[in-house]
Amino acid sequence: MLKMFKKVLLTLGLMSSMTSSIWAANASIDFMVTPISDNVYSIVSPSIGLPTPENKGWNSNSHFVVTNKGVLLFDTGSSELIGNEIKNAIKSVTDKPVRWVINSHSHADHWLGNAAFTDTGAEIIASKQALATMKNDGPSAVEFYARVTKGAIGPTQLVYPTLTLTQEEKWHVGGIDIEFIFSNDGHSPGDILMWLPQQKIIFGGDVLSSDWMPIITGHGNVPNLIETLNVIVKLKPAIVLTGHGRSTTLKSVRRDADLLSSVWKQVTSGYNNGKNSNEILSDVSAKLGQKYRPLYQDFDAEIERHVKLMYKLQK
Ligand SMILES: [Zn+2]
Repeated sequence: MLKMFKKVLLTLGLMSSMTSSIWAANASIDFMVTPISDNVYSIVSPSIGLPTPENKGWNSNSHFVVTNKGVLLFDTGSSELIGNEIKNAIKSVTDKPVRWVINSHSHADHWLGNAAFTDTGAEIIASKQALATMKNDGPSAVEFYARVTKGAIGPTQLVYPTLTLTQEEKWHVGGIDIEFIFSNDGHSPGDILMWLPQQKIIFGGDVLSSDWMPIITGHGNVPNLIETLNVIVKLKPAIVLTGHGRSTTLKSVRRDADLLSSVWKQVTSGYNNGKNSNEILSDVSAKLGQKYRPLYQDFDAEIERHVKLMYKLQK
């Protein structure tokens, strides 16, 4: 049963948060809109970690761009109820309808709110790989969220993307240039990042993190994640928006690229030298702990999972 529970969490990309110190419920639910630039806004969940009855399952961020042709929304939250809260929050800053919805990836906390946006005829957009994973995991994700929130998440109709993107697709919508960047499965199959070149704002989904360790998963690709972080570093974003936690800067992306490549190198060489994962973990903690512990809220809770998962990925 525990194994099953862990598998579901992993599928939902929540394993990392499970061990974090603030995974306990956060009772205050406030869908506050934070202005990021003239036309970009964030709705940051005060809760990071597991869905609970108290946070009503809302544990991820949404961001939106107000264009002169309507709103483009990046991620819709973890249920129809949360999607409706996000829609109401958007209405507090603009009367324009949501016309485009981007699902950054297939983890349930980023797209189960899609159903709230069907009435405005929004085009729902993801990658082909993410869509396939959503179709596979969607029904069990709804059940999981309902169970762990004791029904607080409300009923959710599964609404899948209607349009799939290709790598490096460029759009010009409502007067704004938008570029899509694929992580090549860095965090999960088919992750999409969104780049606004004029404003130098990157929307990272779970590929980018702020105060927390990078979210690596068993169905992600760590070398491709590192490569993507290096691509983002080269873009020199002025503002970095993440799937969980507050907005951040280029410094966090650099930090994550450095950490992941150091751990990956150490795990690979330890593995090739016949060391077991516990031996590698103590090498990694001794070598990297002092530098990286102060840079993350959850270094000690997460480093073991990072080393063990990367060790498994060597096989
Ligand atoms: Zn995720």
